[in-house]
Amino acid sequence: MSDLPKALRRQLEDDWSVFATTVLHHDVAPDGTDKLLLGCPDGRKVECVLMAEDDRRTVCVSTQVGCGMGCVFCASGLKGVERNLTRGEIVEQVLRLRNLLPSEERLTNLVVMGMGESLANLDNLVAALDRVCSPDGLGLGQRRVTVSTVGLPEKMRALAALGRQYHLAVSLHAPTEALRNALVPVNEKVGLGAVMDAADAYFQSSGRQVTFEYVMLRGVNDRPEDSAALAGLLEARKAHVNLIPYNPVAGLPFERPAPESVDRFVRVLRSRRVSVSVRKTKGREIDAACGQLRRRFEAAVSP
Ligand code: SF4
Repeated sequence: MSDLPKALRRQLEDDWSVFATTVLHHDVAPDGTDKLLLGCPDGRKVECVLMAEDDRRTVCVSTQVGCGMGCVFCASGLKGVERNLTRGEIVEQVLRLRNLLPSEERLTNLVVMGMGESLANLDNLVAALDRVCSPDGLGLGQRRVTVSTVGLPEKMRALAALGRQYHLAVSLHAPTEALRNALVPVNEKVGLGAVMDAADAYFQSSGRQVTFEYVMLRGVNDRPEDSAALAGLLEARKAHVNLIPYNPVAGLPFERPAPESVDRFVRVLRSRRVSVSVRKTKGREIDAACGQLRRRFEAAVSP
């Protein structure tokens, strides 16, 4: 801003910064996926990803440092939750990634699927999304935002009551109470029935079909009985299933499912008229699964 006096510019430079975070690491996968590791002012680290596919330019952001939900297959939850990200730290992830785009391209979608349980930081998340979706912000349509949750029924109802148009994705990962308790420990407190009721309530109040995410783990939740149980749980609902073949995490004992298991899941769900897709794994070469880049970085710098 060369139209400001030099002394004022110097003072602004000394006293203010546009970004509170710093870029500690920037990886680009062969498929073009960008992954940033940002350093927060208190030294904590957070990850975010930019994915390009056809006309879509999608950012994936984190809401917490670490995660307290403890899903047994996940890198982010290994050390528990350290703190919620501020609304500014969430917005900065979007801006940092948006700034990587060439000037002729625009951000088209935002998914809240990075580190952390989104709805455990509901107030800051909604404040950040309001800023991103505002015409004074980035003007992104609310319907282009997907909020992912492990399934916290009270928070899902609170989000529905806010009347935003976000798409909700519930990380189900298991079709029965016992299996879900084993894979997603928070389920022991909340129960599968309450999660499904809250998802139904979100659909009723927003009119938006809920997506159920299902990370497939070889021999654990990809068996024939699991596909049948999942179809039974969802066939009477207007729902979509997103199958995610597992990205192995160093130090964790889970494996990627065989392609035949994924095919069987798709076949069984479609035969019961449940809408289903298989997520393409973007950026596998750069640890683009939540929490993996941060772990690798911390391992490299730890004595
Ligand atoms: S899968 Fe999501 S909710 Fe579960 S521990 Fe990882 S970040 Fe948390």
